[in-house]
Amino acid sequence: MAVVELLPRWVQQEWMEYGSCKGQTHHFFAPHGEQAEAREAREAIAGAICRSCEVLEICREYARRNREQGYWGGENDEQRVQMRRREARMHPRVAG
Ligand code: SF4
Repeated sequence: MAVVELLPRWVQQEWMEYGSCKGQTHHFFAPHGEQAEAREAREAIAGAICRSCEVLEICREYARRNREQGYWGGENDEQRVQMRRREARMHPRVAG
């Protein structure tokens, strides 16, 4: 697993400059009261944007490690939790 060095949370991470989602973050975070169908459609758009993103891997790792909410690195909240659990089972001393 790649090691991602984290800066303090309130500091913009350098790689975020290169995200394909820049200026399109409304596709990545749920509005209040979002229904399941709307979420599915929104996340489909976000996923397509992520698949073309050059910083996908570092973004996904950052979001997993920081327990971010929203759609990051091609994953939604549930997928991120599942992956963290899977990594914790595979690497109990490394994953958090
Ligand atoms: S992987 Fe997705 S969420 Fe992460 S920076 Fe790229 S477009 Fe944005």
